[in-house]
Order: sequence, then structure tokens, then C-alpha cells
Amino acid sequence: MLEKRHFYINGAWVAPQVGKDHHVIDPSTEEPCAVISLGGEADADAAVAAAKAAFPGWMATPVEDRIALVEKLIEVYKTRTEDLAQAMSSEMGAPIEMARSQQVGAGTWHLKNFINAAKDFDFSRPLGDHAPNDRIIYEPVGVCALITPWNWPMNQITLKVGAAAIAGCTMVLKPSEESPLDAMIFAEMMDEAGFPPGVFNLVNGDGAGVGTALSGHADVDMVSFTGSTRAGTAISKNAADTLKRVHLELGGKGANVIFEDSDDKAVKRGVMHMMNNTGQSCNAPSRMLVQKGLYDKAVEEAAAVADKVTVGPASAEGRHIGPVVNEVQWNKIQDLIQKGIDEGARLVAGGTGRPEGFNKGFYVRPTVFADVNNQMTIAREEIFGPVLAIIPFETEEEAVEIANDTPYGLTNYVQTQDGARRNRLARQLRSGMVEMNGEARAAGSPFGGMKQSGNGREGGIFGIEDFLEVKAVSGWSAE
Ligand code: NAD
Repeated sequence: MLEKRHFYINGAWVAPQVGKDHHVIDPSTEEPCAVISLGGEADADAAVAAAKAAFPGWMATPVEDRIALVEKLIEVYKTRTEDLAQAMSSEMGAPIEMARSQQVGAGTWHLKNFINAAKDFDFSRPLGDHAPNDRIIYEPVGVCALITPWNWPMNQITLKVGAAAIAGCTMVLKPSEESPLDAMIFAEMMDEAGFPPGVFNLVNGDGAGVGTALSGHADVDMVSFTGSTRAGTAISKNAADTLKRVHLELGGKGANVIFEDSDDKAVKRGVMHMMNNTGQSCNAPSRMLVQKGLYDKAVEEAAAVADKVTVGPASAEGRHIGPVVNEVQWNKIQDLIQKGIDEGARLVAGGTGRPEGFNKGFYVRPTVFADVNNQMTIAREEIFGPVLAIIPFETEEEAVEIANDTPYGLTNYVQTQDGARRNRLARQLRSGMVEMNGEARAAGSPFGGMKQSGNGREGGIFGIEDFLEVKAVSGWSAE
């Protein structure tokens, strides 16, 4: 079993001061695949102190040099692709092919987008023609705590570290205790790329320990958090005493509004998107809203598509879905499927229990419910498993009302050939992102939510701006 107890602080791998052993469980086998240390307050303090000491120097480094280091990081990243894919596959259950393409691929994509965005960004600019002596300077926020989840681990880490590094912030990363291995490889890559000591630090730990120590720390200027709404609330409260900036990327319960005039791949695309990463995506289109005239056909098709989704171990090649991350999630998903049945939704695919042929591993049956109404638990709670809820609607107004009737507001989806209707819905849906007709958002597009899905934006220039302060200067000399 891998032993990975050390933390990366001030440019070196160091033993924990208050380490407690923690087994990383492979969800495909339920066996431990590594042991790490969960740090404590003293470890968080040491990492924050290193980041604080490194901040003035890093902030003063020309942005071109910081960009050059991120470019170097991409080169190193490419040499570690297989290591990263294997780590994520064993710690959080992403099937190896999907881990290589989507989970690892997301990292280079984000880092490249940051570089492109930063090259065009003016970090010091005049306020406007009316005030020639006024200057606007964008400065790094300072020491940042980056707290990340397990579901798209490298995606989240690169979104935060890439933006913070280019902005000139120093940082302490606390990855999820479920997926620390890819993060530790990432720390090795930061080291190899040559980031100065203290700019990037990594401490493993859980939410109650290192997570809380960081969010309440007087020397941390900003917390950038991705994870559950529950933890986002706890972090915001704990950060309040020091009035630090809190940037939140939280859960979702996206609606996928499918009109009668949608293209003929819309239903299949919606089901496959829901099942991707075993349903463990904050932006999953988990409520499929289908217009009456298409409803029966769509339910039949969705069930048939889900029935064809195969489930298998993360280590196996192929395009199956893997297990869910851990036992707690498996139990929670089982309870929610049972609740769907008890509350009167019609189960048309999957159901409770493991898929046929499995008696071990946290595998879930790809599940589809029809005749769901938006007040049922399965339409309100983020399930975070391969479970789709289909809800009928008649009019456009009703669809918008149902889609918006949720505490979340991350991504909504619209499927219709009617361009004017698409644009109306894009404006009316209360979410940080609206994706229509299966078109992916382009490079540099901001990712983030409204309402209880959070308040930050990640990716491209928007992601970098979230790590910057705006300084207003008057009396600026033209020199
Ligand atoms: P989680 O909230 O349980 O944990 C996320 C991270 O926060 C982990 O590192 C954890 O150790 C830490 N943490 C937990 N409690 C904490 C506390 N009180 N103080 C400080 N840190 C704490 O979430 P998870 O189960 O790892 O991830 C799944 C959740 O993440 C889902 O709700 C999903 O929707 C959300 N998510 C959101 C986005 C987005 O960009 N909006 C992206 C991916 C995942």
C-alpha cells in the first residue's frame, strides 16, 4: 500500500506535526489503496506562514514570469498524465479511460485558458480619458486557502491554483481526504516546474481539522472553496470573524428543459450527461423537464439509454461508469432512490441495490424515475449518483417556473430548435450557466453559480479576477 504521509510546505516534503493516519479507500474494491496523514492546526499554521512569507516576493514577480512558470507546469503535467489518471481512478473511481481523457484533460485545458486570458489582461490601466492621473491596479488578494472536493479533483485544483498563481497569490491547498493522491502528484509537479518555496503548499486533512483551521485563520486573506453547500455554509460562518473573502463553488440541481421541437438526440444526450462520472458532477442535468407531446417517447428512450449504460471497475478499460466514491455516498443514494419510490415516482430503469454481478464495490444501478414532481425529494436534493428524475411540463412559462424552483442555480440546459425561445430561456433561468442544444461552453467561459450554488466564477479571465483586488490610485505620474 502506498504511504504518503508527508505535506508539501515551503518547497519541501515535511512530516506532519499532528498527523493522524487515514486510509484512502478504492471504491471499486472497498480496499485501502494508500495511507495519508490528516494534519491539524499546527500543520495548517506552518503552511500559512510559508505562504505569507512568500507573498511579497511572488506578488512583485512580473506577471510574465508567473505565466512562464504556469507554462512550465503544463509541460511537466503532460509527463505525469498516466500517474494522475491512475491516482484518480483508484482513489475516487473514475474509469481509467475517462480519467485519462476527461479528468486529467481538464487540467491542461484550464491552465492554457488562464495563460491566454492573462496575456491579454491589463493589470495596470488608466481609469478613463476623463481622469488622466487616475490609475486602476489589479493586485493579488494575498494568501489563499484552496479547499477542493473529490469528484473532479484535478479540474478543481488547476482552476484554483492556475488562477491564484497568475494573479500573484500564494496558497495552501487542502484537497479532499477522499482524493489526496492526485493532489500530491500535482504538488510534485509544482515543485518540478520551479515555483518558489512557499508559493504553493499542500496540507492533507479533513474539514473539521485543517479545513476549519484554514477558513478561520487570521493570516488567510481568501478561501476558495468547491464542495457541498453544507460545507460552504460552515466555511462562510467560520471565515466571518476575520472578514476574509470567501469564494464558493457549490452543489446544483440542474434542469434540462426539453421542448417538443428539440433535436432527436436531446434525450439520449441528457441521460448520458447525467450518467457521466457516475452522476457525481455539480452541473449534472439531474432534472429532465420534458414537454407533454414528447413525454412518453422521452421516458421510454431515457429508460432504454440508462439500461444500456454499463457499470464496471475503474481499473478496466472501456466506456462504462465506475462506482460512486464511498460507502456514505452509496448509502445516501440508496436512501434517495427508495424515497423516490416511496413518494410515488415511477421507476423506469435501475433501482436500489448493486447492479447484477457485483457484491462488492460502491456500484449503483443507472436509475431513471418518470412522473416526478418538483416537490419530491429526488427533485430537490442533490443526489450525486447516476439517478435521473423526469418531470413533465406543458408550457414554456411552466418549464421556467419548475426549473427555477430550487435553492440551487448552477447550470441549466435547454433543448429546442426555436432560437428566440432559447434566448428567452437563457435570460429567465436563474443560474450561472445555461447550456443549449448540447453546445459546450467555449474556452475561457466562466464556471460558477447563483443562489445556493455559490458566488465565485472560475476559468479564464473571470477566474483570475476572483483572485485580484482592485486598487484605485490618484495622482499617478506619467513619468
Ligand atoms: P464536501 O463539502 O464534503 O468536501 C469538499 C471539501 O471541503 C473537502 O476537501 C472537505 O474536506 C472540505 N470540508 C468539508 N467540511 C468542511 C468544513 N466545515 N470546513 C472546511 N472544509 C471542509 O464536498 P464533496 O463531497 O467533497 O464534493 C461534492 C460536492 O461538491 C457536491 O455538492 C458538488 O456539487 C460540489 N461541487 C461543486 C462544484 C462547483 O464548481 N460548483 C464542482 C465540483 C463539486
